[in-house]
Amino acid sequence: MENVSIFWFRRDLRLEDNTGLYYAYNQEKNILPIFIFDRNILDKLEDKKDARVTFIHTQIEKLQSQLKEFGSSILVKYGEPMEVWKELLKTYTIENVYTNRDYEPYAISRDKAVKDLLSDHGIQFLDFKDQVIFEKSEVVNGSGDFYKVFTPYSKVWLEKFRQNPPQVVSLDKRKNNFLQIDPLPIPRLESMGFENSDIKIPPLEVDKELIQKYDKLRNFPAIKGTTRLGIHLRFGTISVRKLALEAAHLNDTYLNELIWREFYMMILYHNPQVVDRAFKPQYDNIPWRRDENDFNKWCEGKTGYPIVDAGMRELNASGYMHNRVRMIVASFLTKHLLIDWRWGEAYFAKKLLDFELSSNNGGWQWAAGTGTDAQPYFRVFNPESQTEKFDKELKYIKKWVPEYGTKDYPEPMVVHKFARERAIATYKEALST
Ligand code: FAD
Repeated sequence: MENVSIFWFRRDLRLEDNTGLYYAYNQEKNILPIFIFDRNILDKLEDKKDARVTFIHTQIEKLQSQLKEFGSSILVKYGEPMEVWKELLKTYTIENVYTNRDYEPYAISRDKAVKDLLSDHGIQFLDFKDQVIFEKSEVVNGSGDFYKVFTPYSKVWLEKFRQNPPQVVSLDKRKNNFLQIDPLPIPRLESMGFENSDIKIPPLEVDKELIQKYDKLRNFPAIKGTTRLGIHLRFGTISVRKLALEAAHLNDTYLNELIWREFYMMILYHNPQVVDRAFKPQYDNIPWRRDENDFNKWCEGKTGYPIVDAGMRELNASGYMHNRVRMIVASFLTKHLLIDWRWGEAYFAKKLLDFELSSNNGGWQWAAGTGTDAQPYFRVFNPESQTEKFDKELKYIKKWVPEYGTKDYPEPMVVHKFARERAIATYKEALST
């Protein structure tokens, strides 16, 4: 059996500035990079043309061609991670295993099981911080507790970042520590029950001019005023360190958004219960309306509120929705319709290219008022005044709702004034019990 050390790619699909890979490369010989198409995740995806699966597959092919330049290959498996690891243990004499940490509840339990299995065979499982600048409990308050409010968290985050900027690393091409092998076959999407998606993936480009103007442009959904790098951050096709170092010179507001991303990751890490429950437990008393008919109107973009409908239609067609509009549609579902934030969250999770459990959960709980540092429950977005402020010329609305203003466009499914009062009264009542 061949002696190898393994680097396990997960949500860090790049060779450049990849922390775990960098350490493996500098400490080991015969590194075999692997990727597992995880059935525990894939089997739950309803859409067999899921654009994120196509994206991952394409990135794996890119890694394969980059590794070819090192005379190496990536080994790609399809299955349940524990079963794959048992098989790898039979095929190779494994020295050490390297990977980058993942903070989601499923990933934590998966990694623990793999670590225990490897440890039974005397193999070390070495994991590294990579997808964030600061993780877990690196940014805490004076008593060592995690922050529940964003502003003080972000201040400490920034202070640490400025005092000790992250290092960007790259593989030294003069040495080559990858296992020398011919390219191994990559399972085809079809063999895993998937097909290629036609949805376009936003390009991996850091538009410096856009970032410079980010604070002025970011709220207007009709223009390209945000970077659309979400999917690249999600799957690690961009390094967050590189992006944050760049952003720090260009625009504070943009850097602040990257801090929000880490804030929600930290919240999820310390509070895994938020996946199913309100961060503020008393909000679990709200009697959500379980009205599937109303929910479907929202999903399809047929609420009769054009800014809401434009957002939902953008999401359905492209896998993307502008942040301002995400806030509006989430507020509409949870407050105007009083439908459970978990329904909306699950719908976004199915559709968003940049779906990130922590940010999606954080964004939904913010809008529903149930989250940490959330929108107060009595603040109910008025879709009309939001439109007036952020899509005054109706450009975004007309792009996605071409029949707006004609007789084919539906009447509002609920009257704003009534919905607002109902929401406030329902929340108030639930919170007083
Ligand atoms: P830009 O505006 O260019 O920002 C750059 C990056 O910063 C983003 O890609 C993202 O990684 C991060 N970021 C920006 N805003 C936020 C924010 N408010 N919270 C956390 N991170 C942020 N973001 C996700 O990445 N995945 C999600 O599943 C997700 N679900 C959301 C659900 C709701 C209800 C709401 C209100 C927001 C959600 N967000 C989510 C946050 C935000 O809407 C998106 O990150 C942003 O719209 C992505 O577009 P962009 O890549 O052009 O971002």
